[in-house]
Amino acid sequence: MDATGSPRQGWQTSPSFALARLRAGHHRFRVGGAPVLPGGPDPVAAILSCADPQPEAVTVFGGTDVYAVRTAGLEVGPAALGSLEYAVTHLGAPLLVVLGHAACSLPRGSGPDRVRATLAALRRRSPLLDQAVRSGRCGLHGMVWHDADRLLNEVRPALSPPARRVCRLRPPNRASTRSP
Ligand SMILES: [Zn+2]
Repeated sequence: MDATGSPRQGWQTSPSFALARLRAGHHRFRVGGAPVLPGGPDPVAAILSCADPQPEAVTVFGGTDVYAVRTAGLEVGPAALGSLEYAVTHLGAPLLVVLGHAACSLPRGSGPDRVRATLAALRRRSPLLDQAVRSGRCGLHGMVWHDADRLLNEVRPALSPPARRVCRLRPPNRASTRSP
């Protein structure tokens, strides 16, 4: 964060760079782990994950400095929302990741559909987070942890329904169908 209280800008804090660091961290985890470093004041990303037993986000991302919030089934009540807003607006986290997991024991689960619903809920319920995403200051990303193969899969955001193409059959052009 700079002297004006605004989150720092620059390529090192861009959402895409943060995502690349998380992916690199997950690669370290996959190839044999990495030391878990103490968290600093400038987390690479804020991660919302399920409170069910599963590896900590910092472990899954190979020791990358992340700001972790865990709630049962990715619920985003006021406490979780406030914590995530703090990470994005005060600590300047350039990326917010909703991390579900395939083996979720909760009734609504926390698989891809739940992750997509949570991504939408974060923006709907928090004007601060929505503004940070709209301005490009913070990226919003979904992932799901698969316990069986110890792998993270990306969750594609729900696409807004495509505009319906109205295809009207044109009446035959009499001029073109007319015999010469
Ligand atoms: Zn769960």
